[in-house]
Amino acid sequence: MMANCKDLGEHVERLRALSFEIGTYRPPSEGGSASLLLRVSENCPWNRCTFCEMYKGQRFGYRTVAEVTADIDRVAAIRDEITAVSSKLGMEGEITRELGAALLTEGRDLVGNPSFVTVFNWLASGARTAFLQDADSMSMRPREIIAVLKHLRQTLDSLSRVTSYTRSKTLFKRKPEELRLIREAGLDRLHVGLETGDDEVLALVNKGVSSAEQIEGGRKAVAAGFQVSMYWMPDLGARERRRQHAQNTARVLSAINPHYIRSRPLVPRPGTPLFEQVAQGRLHLSSPHERLEELAWMIGGLEVNSKVCFDHAMNAWADRRGGLLFRRDYEGYRFPEEKPLLRERIREGLAIEESMHVHARQLMAVQSL
Ligand code: SF4
Repeated sequence: MMANCKDLGEHVERLRALSFEIGTYRPPSEGGSASLLLRVSENCPWNRCTFCEMYKGQRFGYRTVAEVTADIDRVAAIRDEITAVSSKLGMEGEITRELGAALLTEGRDLVGNPSFVTVFNWLASGARTAFLQDADSMSMRPREIIAVLKHLRQTLDSLSRVTSYTRSKTLFKRKPEELRLIREAGLDRLHVGLETGDDEVLALVNKGVSSAEQIEGGRKAVAAGFQVSMYWMPDLGARERRRQHAQNTARVLSAINPHYIRSRPLVPRPGTPLFEQVAQGRLHLSSPHERLEELAWMIGGLEVNSKVCFDHAMNAWADRRGGLLFRRDYEGYRFPEEKPLLRERIREGLAIEESMHVHARQLMAVQSL
């Protein structure tokens, strides 16, 4: 039987008063592990990619070290309140459904409190991972992000993995020594939106980086000891440039040899220049089979020791039984060992009726309703 916590109301009152900043976006793999989300800067310092709607209309800003470390302290205080209630209820500090129910019975409004919900879920999944938001944490001054990381690691010592988004261009600009010091301060994994390795497509989508800079930046990050997770976007070259997009993306990724390569097929987003280009017929989306062919060219050109992942809902190709063609897990297909298996999966997708697959045009139409 659950013990009684006489001062539960006081704990709930303190939880209500504690909050920290949380941004909107994080990679799916950080959601699956219920990462703690901590905002070290706001929005995107570049904000000019023609396919991206994420931070449109939002001004970029750095947060100060004092602001972020105060947020980390508030996370620790929320953690301490929750675990104290657990202990008083006889649960020995464990984070359980019953504990959540007890807290919500006393303070129903906590269910709509993002800071409480984030820390509770993070604790319930082991409190092992954190993700630094928003789009480019490595654009912070090295000494500032190092100070944040040191405070984070000291204060939340259950963390075994800390990750963040960054841009290839930012990695290119950082000195190897700066990258090494940031890595040593406790940042483990970088999520990088490569999108394409083709210079013409990079210029057309206004990515603000060249393929040579992508390679140099990516290699420096790998050499500094980061786990590097790179995202590429099937069909970003559209039907007009799909072969060069695939081949040059394989070339750049092979030169970097990142730990993860993640597929994020293009779905034009309303309000972006690329959406208008497609809607006005200036760019033509590839069909599902054409996208699979592009995938086959890209995969065929990959010479890497990476994990190739399809961990996003947009990888919606079907197999012959109407299920998913590719595994959706966060660890993906091990290369080079599973390259033949992946090529076999692509052949299966190409062999079935094209209407079995979802066309990006359908998704685009749904979004603009
Ligand atoms: S750098 Fe990333 S977040 Fe910024 S505009 Fe480009 S795709 Fe969007």
